[in-house]
Formats: sequence, structure tokens, C-alpha cells
Amino acid sequence: MPESKLHVELLNMTQEPVKVIFSACRQCYSASSAYDIYKSCFDKGDAAKQEDFIKEIVSSGHETPLEHVSMSFAAEGISRTCSHQLVRHRLASYSQQSQRYVKESDFDYIVPPNVKNDKELLNIFEATMRQIQNSYNTAVEMLKKKGKKGESCNEDARFLLPGAAETKIVVTMNCRELIHFFKQRCCARTQWELRALANAMRDICRQVLPAVFENADAKCVSLGYCPEGAKFTCGRFPLKEEVLKKK
Ligand SMILES: Cc1cc2nc3c(=O)[nH]c(=O)nc-3n(C[C@H](O)[C@H](O)[C@H](O)COP(=O)(O)OP(=O)(O)OC[C@H]3O[C@@H](n4cnc5c(N)ncnc54)[C@H](O)[C@@H]3O)c2cc1C
Repeated sequence: MPESKLHVELLNMTQEPVKVIFSACRQCYSASSAYDIYKSCFDKGDAAKQEDFIKEIVSSGHETPLEHVSMSFAAEGISRTCSHQLVRHRLASYSQQSQRYVKESDFDYIVPPNVKNDKELLNIFEATMRQIQNSYNTAVEMLKKKGKKGESCNEDARFLLPGAAETKIVVTMNCRELIHFFKQRCCARTQWELRALANAMRDICRQVLPAVFENADAKCVSLGYCPEGAKFTCGRFPLKEEVLKKK
């Protein structure tokens, strides 16, 4: 039952993303077809010009052309608690490791940093994980004795598994949704584990598609203020009320 750590990889993304977004957007203001514009990007295209154009549309909030490019990430070493929050984002596709088909006879788990930093609490946490594992294994055996097989044992025994249990998930979002996701989930108010996942995905996005994601971050960064209120603000930006009062 080892402790598990967050790991995120980009599985795949729409090919030629800059050219796809550029031609979709350019077509809105042109008599030419998007396909002709796309082809001309290869023939005599100026990559820097295309990227500048995209940066402009991103900063102006004209975001629909960004929906034509999608990115798929493989995330592992996250808890079921984290994935439960992730899948609340509806404009996305998910494929998650099943606790029915994959037997959790030696499940990995995530330890929150505040637990890890407290020896006494960590001992309680780890003892609980071992106890849950024993109960899970016992439940599988007892269900087997009742004549249940394979996933029908796992599907009932998994009710005992903790929110800390490690999971693996593939998530696909288009660039517009990714920006929205980062605005919400790179925010310091977001739960630490989902924030770590969002930050890792954002770092990959910035690396592979800077024209779209160079300024992708928590919403306060683009707003210039924190809308979360005095009770929840992390203090990185002034409160919304303070900024509006000055105007
Ligand atoms: C700090 C924080 C604390 C939270 N706490 C809680 C909590 O205590 N309880 C809880 O239940 N949730 C909580 N959430 C989750 C939150 O309520 C949202 O479910 C989650 O953040 C997804 O946001 P979304 O709906 O904007 O995004 P997405 O589902 O990713 O949708 C993106 C955007 O598409 C549009 N959209 C999507 N679906 C619809 C629709 N059906 N109708 C109209 N427009 C739509 C909206 O503009 C939406 O913003 C929390 C989130 C954060 C960031």
C-alpha cells in the first residue's frame, strides 16, 4: 500500500493548433474559406503573426475559436476526492480507472501534506489505510464465498475504500474550457490537490501552446482583483470592492 504522487502527461492534442485557431478566427472576417486560410498558413504563413493574432483574441475574451483545439491529459497519483471535484467540470471528456474491474487488493493512496507533516496524525492515517485494506480484502473473500465472482465482488467491496484511494483518469478539454478550468482551479481557494493538478496541466499548456496559455492562471490574474471576498482571499490581489471603490 504505497503512498502515491501526482503525475500528469499530455497524451495528445489537436494537430497544428495555432493554424487551426488562426484560420477559424480569420474566416470570421474574410471572404475566403477557413480551409484556404489554413492551407495558406503552410504556404506563406507567418507563424509569429498567427501567434500574435491569437494572443490578441485571447486577451480580448473572444474565446470561441479556442474551442476547435482540444488537449488530452493522463493524470495519475490523484485521490478519488480530487477526481470527484475534477469531473464537476462538464465541458470535458473523462475516462477513469474502474474500481469494479481493477481489484484494489493493494490500493495506493494520497496523503495530504498537513497529515504528512504531523507524525502522530500520519500514524493514525496510515493505520486507517491498513485497516481499510484488510476490511476490503476480507469483504472480497466473504463475497467470493457467497458465490460472487470478479467485478461483482469488487463492486461491493469498493464501498469500503477511502476518498484517499489513488485513481488514474484521462481528461480531454478544449482550450476555452482549459482557460476556464485554470481560472477556477489555479486559485488558492481551490483544494490543494486539485490545484496541484490544475497547475501541472497549465504548465504543460504554457509549454506546448504559449500563444493561448501564456497568461493562463487563476482568475485574479486577468481580473486584476480577487472576487472571493475578504474571508477567502489569499491576498495576492486586492479585493474586488477595493478596486471598484478606487474607480
Ligand atoms: C473554490 C471552489 C469551491 C467549490 N465548492 C463547491 C461546493 O462546496 N459544493 C459544490 O457542489 N461545488 C463546489 N465547487 C464546484 C463548482 O460549483 C463547480 O461545479 C465547478 O467549479 C465547475 O465549474 P463550472 O460549472 O463553471 O464549470 P464547467 O462545468 O467546466 O462549465 C464551464 C462553463 O460552461 C457553462 N455551463 C456549463 N454547464 C452549464 C449549464 N448546464 N447551464 C449553463 N451554463 C453551463 C458555464 O458558463 C460554466 O462556467 C467549488 C469550486 C471552486 C472553484
